[in-house]
Amino acid sequence: MSDGGTRAGVHFDFSGRRALVTGAGKGIGREIAAFLASCGAEVVAVSRSAEDLATLAQNHGCLAVVADLETAQGARDAADAAGPIDLLVNNAGISILQSFLDTTPEAFDRTMAVNVRAPLILGQEVARGLIARGTPGAIVNVSSQSSTVGLPDHAAYCASKGALDQLTRVMAIELGRHGIRVNAVNPTVTLTPMGRMAWGDPARSGPMLARIPLGHFAEPLDVAQTVAYLLSDAARMVHGVTLPVDGGFLAT
Ligand code: NAP
Repeated sequence: MSDGGTRAGVHFDFSGRRALVTGAGKGIGREIAAFLASCGAEVVAVSRSAEDLATLAQNHGCLAVVADLETAQGARDAADAAGPIDLLVNNAGISILQSFLDTTPEAFDRTMAVNVRAPLILGQEVARGLIARGTPGAIVNVSSQSSTVGLPDHAAYCASKGALDQLTRVMAIELGRHGIRVNAVNPTVTLTPMGRMAWGDPARSGPMLARIPLGHFAEPLDVAQTVAYLLSDAARMVHGVTLPVDGGFLAT
């Protein structure tokens, strides 16, 4: 786990700002929550497993909201429980590996509910609050390189991330005039519980790694620092982008 804003000499100042991070219990979301907290933000960490959030609260002072974002009501309740928010990171996501021919409607619907509908609902709730308060804000959706390239056994996941990129663009064009910036980050394989589940087998990960010019997968901190940049005033003119964090994968 990072020591946040001081690591690698990177620092952002989010003092006085309240951030909501979904899927903050593990992996990339946990790193984002810890990093933003170390940069002075008050962080509301939303996730499914209470025990993950308890250690995040203990170690990093994050406020915990246990929620299942797979239901629309769960997403609404999480936004209600979080209170007024300035910075939103829609990070929670699931990946259910199935070949295209075997993809079930249930797996497809679950994936779309967590990966696309929850960011829609949380984005609506947070944006409504910002507009009502007349406060500028920023939103980052955690998408994936799989929004652009097809990956075997990822039909529902790739479809969901392509949809999330498009949702990001529409949010950007509608919310910009309210002073709310919206962007996405698109990581390559990142070494988290999800990353190890999908890419732990060297037979799968080898060909993927071979396509990354920098020669390694992403670490959660690589994604967290990019998210922090997009949330920060350093990115005040960056709006509506889907930013690869992929070591050059998409350049090949
Ligand atoms: P992860 O290790 O599986 O962690 C996901 C976190 O989200 C967990 O804390 C999980 O809680 C929570 N979560 C999942 N479903 C939820 C739900 N219905 N309601 C509330 N919380 C829920 O995943 P990750 O690798 O950190 O991925 C984070 C994001 O990055 C995802 O959007 C993913 O698509 C994206 N991404 C990942 C990679 C990669 O290679 N890892 C690459 C590109 C993009 P529980 O554990 O309690 O279920």
